[in-house]
Amino acid sequence: MSEIYVCLTFDFDAESAQIRQEEDAVRISKGQFAVQRGLSRILALLAKYEIKSTFFVCGWVAEKYPQHINEITSAQHEIAAHGYLHEYLDKLEFNEEIIVHEHTNQVLEDIVGKIKGFRAPYWKMSKNTLNIIAEMGYMYDSSLMDEDRPYVYSVPESPKNLVEFPVEWFLDDWVLFEHHQKSPSEVFEIWKAQFDALLEMEDLEENRRVLTLTCHPSCIGHAYRITVLERFISYMKSKQAIFVKMVDLASDYLL
Ligand SMILES: [Zn+2]
Repeated sequence: MSEIYVCLTFDFDAESAQIRQEEDAVRISKGQFAVQRGLSRILALLAKYEIKSTFFVCGWVAEKYPQHINEITSAQHEIAAHGYLHEYLDKLEFNEEIIVHEHTNQVLEDIVGKIKGFRAPYWKMSKNTLNIIAEMGYMYDSSLMDEDRPYVYSVPESPKNLVEFPVEWFLDDWVLFEHHQKSPSEVFEIWKAQFDALLEMEDLEENRRVLTLTCHPSCIGHAYRITVLERFISYMKSKQAIFVKMVDLASDYLL
């Protein structure tokens, strides 16, 4: 049987975007579902299946919810950067963007130590973003959509490389459940189809298949949705998928 790696990743945004956009109390509370209920359900599921994951966290969220960050790290999951207040990086001036990255990095490193990975909020970035995070010493990014397996990204204007873990909208819980209102079985079938297809793919230069799934505690954490994730995890486990944190896989690509 072919080998396949799976990076289950979670964007712990909480209500950061709603606060930045000064939205109403109900919209804010929707983000807070991640804090009140979603995150604990995910952590319990990961513990049940003995899976280590990567959590992309906004700096503001880490400051506001240190106890939740502690729950993530004490279970040996990885914390990676995801903006300070879930900014649209493509809307920022160069200097503004530098401040966002450096501030976020400082907040997260003060809590959990060295940060190695980054994911752009909304998967939107400026032409400077990857250069900035490479110069800051980050090892990997997970925001681009140009491949379906990780690769080494040569950063323009920088001698440094990043490992890119490509993402896709159809491998994002928010898009399928919130935007398209897909049913649980539809979501499962989409994710399973991609997993099965990658597993059967013969075109790999190297025998490494990697599926990156992006979920949000405020979305997948709802009762009927977490059962979809559990069903998918269980299916992938039955196919001997190897679940890894991005930081652990990324270091292999930079050897
Ligand atoms: Zn996000």
